[in-house]
Parts: sequence; structure tokens; C-alpha cells
Amino acid sequence: MSVPPPFLPYGRQCVDDADVAAVAEVLRGDFLTTGPTVDAFETAFATAVGAPHAVACSSGTAGLHLAMMALGIGPGDVVVVPTVTFLASANCAVYVGAEPVFADVDAETGLTTPALIAEAVARAGRDRVKAIVAVHLNGHCVDVAALAETYPEIPIVEDACHALGATVGDVAVGACAHSAVTMFSTHPVKTVASGEGGVLCTPDPVLDERLRRYRNHGMVREPDRFEDRAAGFDASGEPNPWYYEMPEPGYNYRLSDIHAALGLSQIGRLGAFVARRRELRREYEAALSRCGPHVRALVTAPGCDPSWHLSVALIDFVALGVARGTVMRRLREAGIGTQVHYFPVHRQPYYRRTVDTPPLVGADAYYERCLSLPLFPAMVDGDVDRVVSELMRAIGNGGDGTG
Ligand SMILES: *Cc1c(COP(=O)(O)O)cnc(C)c1O
Repeated sequence: MSVPPPFLPYGRQCVDDADVAAVAEVLRGDFLTTGPTVDAFETAFATAVGAPHAVACSSGTAGLHLAMMALGIGPGDVVVVPTVTFLASANCAVYVGAEPVFADVDAETGLTTPALIAEAVARAGRDRVKAIVAVHLNGHCVDVAALAETYPEIPIVEDACHALGATVGDVAVGACAHSAVTMFSTHPVKTVASGEGGVLCTPDPVLDERLRRYRNHGMVREPDRFEDRAAGFDASGEPNPWYYEMPEPGYNYRLSDIHAALGLSQIGRLGAFVARRRELRREYEAALSRCGPHVRALVTAPGCDPSWHLSVALIDFVALGVARGTVMRRLREAGIGTQVHYFPVHRQPYYRRTVDTPPLVGADAYYERCLSLPLFPAMVDGDVDRVVSELMRAIGNGGDGTG
């Protein structure tokens, strides 16, 4: 009997023996959290993306919350965010009492553009907009330079969860050439994994200090920054060794050294991971180009060298007469995992109730057709062809009326 081929999820971490050894070493050491491995991970990450400062935290979502706090965003403020993204890109505004206003995306790339951001900024009223979250969907890059030029007064937060390893010209995403903060996630489905985790990059030492403070309950331990001199110092002027201060509350959004050890071990392979993703994407592009007029690979958005976090096919399910759910179920039965990235966030029940958004036709057109196919560095030769032939089979069977 033949062994069925292994199940191919749409994304998967790539953990090797060196990663396992690095985590085991931390487990045997003195610090499980707030130790030297977190510092080493931050330094290595900053080096990898050319970031002036890097702050590790417990998740990408926590990182977005920290970014909103560090930028001083609060009630009455608006944060503009593209609607085709993961929930967290918009929810971070709600965490600080602000309102997300949703921008449309290009129907062919899924990426937002300066013109579509401008439409959302005008809808919100420019003077209320206190941040723009630029989501680098699929590993393509939003034109952050153009946004920074149009809105010099509005800080830009790059949601770069999909774009670790992408470059614009010679500049890596994370260098923050035109943004206040760039956020990465190290969730296992992203390019570099730490289990859970996030990294915030910033060019600004003031933001760096705030991000670190809010990550750790808002605590200040440096005596020269104590407000309450009587509590912080003894009669001889020595700082009290137990004393810390909290000028404003923060959270426990720290990353543990256990997680940092995995991230640190993985970040050394970033170049190899991205190179393999790009190779697989080229294979997909070639294979999907033979699938007829209703199926094609996502076009490469201009202006960047994408890192290909996802391999998205755009499929005209209506023209093919088959429901996407049916195709996904058939593929699952054939051992192939797929996913849809993403249902437009402004259509979520909560945001339907709380944010008035006009129809966003680019987002709807993108959402109706997108399907993320398996893409991760450990895929082997033949996997892409297997995925694409199973996709053609799943589509070719026609509709069964159940999707
Ligand atoms: C994964 C992801 C997040 C959230 O990161 P977590 O580490 O899972 O909290 C936010 N935005 C985008 C676009 C993502 O892909």
C-alpha cells in the first residue's frame, strides 16, 4: 500500500536541532525571563533588519498596543488602517480608546495605496488622524515613503508581520526609514518563529524608552528619573535599592528568554528562509500560469522585493461555478491546507456596529478571490506541482452546491 503524501499546511514553522538546543540551553540556565537572551535577540533582530532600536514583546498584537500607547493615541483619535488585514491591526486602536477608520486596498494586490489611504484620511478628517497603520500584506510593501511625504505630521506604524526580509530599494523593512515604529510577529506561521512573540523597531530613542516601559508595567528603575525624591532616596542621598516608580501604568507584555532563544536561533536563518520562499513563489507563478484564465498568482506589487509570507492565488470562483469552501474542503481531503487572508475587518460584526464604513470595493473584490496556498521553507521539490494539480482537480470538479 502506498503511503499518502504528508499534509501540507498553508504555513508552518521550520525548527531544526540547533533551535531545540538553543531553547534547552536557556532552560538549564539562570534566566527564564528578563535575562540576557532577550537582549541578544533584540540585538540580532535589529542587526538583521537595520533597525536603530528593537524591543521584543509577548506578541505582535501586544506590540501594536504598545506602539499606540507610545505614540500617545487615545480617545477621540483616529487610526487609519487597511481593511484587508488580521484583526489586531485595527484592534490596537480600540485598546487605547481610539477609532479605526478603514482604508480600501487594491483589488489585484490586496495592498493599500497612498490614494486609498488619502480617501480614508479625508473621510476621518485629517486633524483627527493620529496614526496610519501600513500593513505590508503578503510580504509586499505599502509605499511608506509617499505616505510620510503626504502626512509629515502623522506617525506611521508599519505592520510588517508579513514582510520580515522584504526590502524597498536597498533598505530592509524594519529600518524605519519613514515610519515611527515597525512591528513584526514571531508567531509560528510567520517567517521567523519564537512560539509567541513580537518585535518593535523604531528609529526614535524616546519611543524606544516608552515601549520598554509600557512592556513592563510602566516601571522606572533609574534613580535619576524618580519623581518622588523622598521615597526614592535615603537621608544620605543614596537611591533606595528596592524602589521603583510608575509614572503611568503599563502591561506585562514581556517576551520570555525561552521564546527569545528560539527567535535568536531562527533569525540567523532569515536570509535562507526568505530565499526559499522566493524560490517557491517563482515555482507557483510558473505552475499557476498554466491554469487557465480564472486562476493566477498574485501579481508582484511594484516598488519592493517581497518576502512572500503567503502564496496567494486569485481565483474567479464565480466564473468557475464552484464555491471557495468546496475547493478548500476538497483540497483538505487531498492533504492540502489553504486559508483566506482576510475577511475585510470593517465587515466584522463589532466594526459594523461601531465604525461607519462605506463599501470598500477593492477589498471585497480581493477577498472574494484570494486563496493562500501552502508556502513554507521546508516544502520539497514537487510540492508546488502537487498543490497546483490538486487545486485544478478541486476546481475542475465543478460546483456541488454545498459551498
Ligand atoms: C500575525 C499578525 C498579527 C498579530 O501578531 P501576533 O503575534 O499573532 O499577535 C498582526 N497583523 C498581521 C498582519 C499579522 O499577520
